[in-house]
Amino acid sequence: MRPENSRHSNISIFVPHAGCPYHCAFCNQHVITQQNALPHAEQVREICQQAFQSMDENARKHTEIAFFGGSFTAIPRDYMIELLESAQEFIGNQKFSGIRISTRPDCIDPEILKLLKFYHVTSIELGAQSMSDQVLSVNHRGHTAQDVFTASGLIRSSGFELGLQIMLGLYQSTWDDETKTVRQIISIHPDTVRIYPVVILKHTMLGDLYQSGKLELFCDPEKNSLDDVISMTANYMTEFRKHDIKLIKIGLHASEFVEKDMLGGYYHPAFRELCESRIYRVQIENFLKFQGILKSGQEFVIRVNPKCVSKAVGQKRENIHYFQKMQGIKLKIIPDPTIDIFEIKI
Ligand code: SF4
Repeated sequence: MRPENSRHSNISIFVPHAGCPYHCAFCNQHVITQQNALPHAEQVREICQQAFQSMDENARKHTEIAFFGGSFTAIPRDYMIELLESAQEFIGNQKFSGIRISTRPDCIDPEILKLLKFYHVTSIELGAQSMSDQVLSVNHRGHTAQDVFTASGLIRSSGFELGLQIMLGLYQSTWDDETKTVRQIISIHPDTVRIYPVVILKHTMLGDLYQSGKLELFCDPEKNSLDDVISMTANYMTEFRKHDIKLIKIGLHASEFVEKDMLGGYYHPAFRELCESRIYRVQIENFLKFQGILKSGQEFVIRVNPKCVSKAVGQKRENIHYFQKMQGIKLKIIPDPTIDIFEIKI
């Protein structure tokens, strides 16, 4: 499996909603990026220059200049080329490794891929969101699941790194839809995946539905739905890891602005950590169940990779409390450098 903590980093340059042909039901890039205006070439150069000076050569070679927050390949061509050109002087030997962009699955074709290659784009992330055509349609995505397959094939065969992004809990999506989406994304085998549980923001279609009481979320907010979504996401993370697909982002970036403009949905500033702790909980529980020693009142020592002790223990010792209260088991978690990340030995 790929190492969990790669040294990769991005210099993120946001182009909020640039090129977007539709307004997707859940999206408000102005809140997420905290930016209203589009950057011009000189600003791109300044951002790259600052980052360049703050990194040594080794860090630079693991860093891409990333244009996020819009549909990059659908941006008016002159402006798109202006952005790409302004980044060129910072790419190459002893400089940054390339350019990363995010875009829509229906805005990829051989001609645009050729142009991106020419400008040293190395990685392309597609917002797939769901692989249910019905869910895509009611969330105003304007593309189909087949577009995700087609665009992914073109990106791979042109030699780019492929990233896919999915959103859990969109309007009218069911758990079955999410599981189907995860299976189909695994069948594409992208290099990277981002998983975002839906967060309902003001000034979006989902926000309007929510405020008028017409939005039914697939996990009932009255019944600790965040906990259910953590379990679901942890389960999907395990599936992606099994297929050697790198998870580069789980949950929306923690931000006071998102918190201010959030109406509902599934958000926690440490969402990824909660999911990783849940992966440990499930592993330990499955092992103890298999051995028939749950509720035995015994004490067990669990050995985990030293980097993962706090994940296995859980936030506020949540896993330790869970086993003690719910399963009648006392756990002691200790570090062991011979054990891989997300593996356990008892
Ligand atoms: S989700 Fe992507 S395509 Fe849709 S509005 Fe937001 S940035 Fe544009």
